[in-house]
Parts: sequence; structure tokens; C-alpha cells
Amino acid sequence: MKKTVLVLVLGFIMLLPTNVFGWSEHGLMTAQVIGSLSWVKDYNNITITPYTYHKYDNSVYNEKFIIKYLEGSVGDKTDALTILSIYSDEPDWDMDTDLNLSRFQILTGNSQGYRHQRYVAFGGLLRAGVAHKRVQHFYNLSRIAFKNNDAYWGFRFLARSLHFLQDLTQPQHALPAPNNIIIREIIDIRSFTIMCVNHHLTLEDYYQTTQIKNGNEEYIKTLREAKPARIRNPYKSAIIASRRARRLIGNLWNRMENFFGREISAKSRFNITQDELQLLLTNPAKQEARVKLDQTVLTALNLFSSYSKGLVEFARRDIKF
Ligand SMILES: [Zn+2]
Repeated sequence: MKKTVLVLVLGFIMLLPTNVFGWSEHGLMTAQVIGSLSWVKDYNNITITPYTYHKYDNSVYNEKFIIKYLEGSVGDKTDALTILSIYSDEPDWDMDTDLNLSRFQILTGNSQGYRHQRYVAFGGLLRAGVAHKRVQHFYNLSRIAFKNNDAYWGFRFLARSLHFLQDLTQPQHALPAPNNIIIREIIDIRSFTIMCVNHHLTLEDYYQTTQIKNGNEEYIKTLREAKPARIRNPYKSAIIASRRARRLIGNLWNRMENFFGREISAKSRFNITQDELQLLLTNPAKQEARVKLDQTVLTALNLFSSYSKGLVEFARRDIKF
């Protein structure tokens, strides 16, 4: 029986789209989160330096990935908030695509999915993904750079570490659907996959992105006011963050259905335009459902902010930069 379930789950995961790997707009959200830490603005005279860490980073990356400097050129000045905000998006710039990392990467879609998720199902029977290890990997590089008096790469590696920790706070990256839905629907893998993709894309590419880009006050307030998580070990905290996010998947699934309608769980692709979403967001009949959905998304974003702040605060104490 267990074997059958495993094969079905593998088949289902292989059908997941390859472009679904975490919250949208890491940079915009990180700017709010880290901008709320008053001490960060003191790091405002940082010289942009060239990348000289090949010998310290033994991980493989996509050959097409090149280091870009979006805020200026080597030798120019920048500040910590700018570096942390811009480069918290960097791991999504094809760094981890088209790689052969593990025979288990197929469980998470592909190599990028493998590095950006930590997937645990059926009480630990099925595990895939190393996002928690990538949090620690880039944290270690950040320490090396700071110890080398290179604040630029110290903060830039810390931004990459933040990215992976933030990905782990997205509930759908810990479990694609609640257990009861998986058990009920897994027989028809193709339809089940469409159902999960509908929920996933609608949350990340429409709902969450729109609320952030609209500057929704509650969203901004949550990101700015979350209390820093107490972090003593980035690796262990990443695992705890993903466990906490996984607990939200049941509520998230139901509340997405209540707000967007049962069609989101239909066995065909669910599409919504930005105009339709704006109408839903202001529709008086939808306000109760919107408030409840916001509660769940904001709980996840509270984790996003809390763990991001916790990691940066921990780095400051631990690395003493
Ligand atoms: Zn990611």
C-alpha cells in the first residue's frame, strides 16, 4: 500500500510546473522587513567588490548563471538594505536550473525545486529538497566574506541565505495540498496536479503579489512589525520554519476555495485576470472570505518576516560584522 502511494506521489510531483518555487517578490518584501530594523541603515558606506569566492563555494551552478551588479559597478558605494533587498531574489535568477544534483530531484520538479524546497509527506516517509541546507551554505559564505572584511559579499551571501529561508515559509512548498485532499484525489494524478497548480499559481502570482504591489497596509504592517525569530542555528531554524508553514496548508486550501470559488479546485486550469482579481478584492460579498484568506497568508508572511529578521539579527551577533 505504502509503495503504491509513493509511486502516485512521485508521478504527481513530476507533473508540477517547473516555475513554481517560492514567494513572489522576495526583494520588495525583504525591503519592508529589513527596512524596519533600525541598525541596518548604519551600514551605508559599502564598496561593491568583485566576486572572489570560487574557492570557497564548491556547489555546482548553472553555467549560464553570471554575477550581475544591479545597484552599480565594482568600486561604487552601496548600503546593506539595498544589497539584502536586491539579492534576496538572486537565487531565482537561474542559479540552480538545469543541474543534475540528485536522483531525487525529480520529486521536486527539477534541480531548482530541489534546492528551493523541503518537501516532507506521509509522516516523513517521503522527503525531498535541500532548501534548509542552502540557508546554512550561504550563511557560511557570508561569514567568510565578513571575516575577509568584504561587507559587500557578506551581505550579498546573507541575502541568498535569506531567500532560501523565506522560500521555506511558503506552506505550499512544504505540502502541495492537505492530506485528506491528497488521499481523495491522488488516484487521478493529472487532475490532482492541475488542482494544486491552480492553488499555487493563484496564490503566488496573483493574490500575494497583488497585495504587496498594491501596498496593502495590513501586509506591509505584518512584514514590518513581525518579531524576530530566535535563531541560534540557521539550519535548524530553517527546518522549524518549514514545519510551521506546513501546518497552514489545510486552512490555506479551504480559504482559497472560499475566496476564489470551487473552480480553483476544479480539474481544469483556473485563470483569473488582474481586473477580475481587483473586482473580487473589492466585492462586498467576498469580504468575509477575503479577511479569512488574508489571515492565513499573513500568518505565513509573519513567518517570512520573523525568520528573515531572526537570521539577520543572528548574523550580526554571531559574525559580529
Ligand atoms: Zn526560490
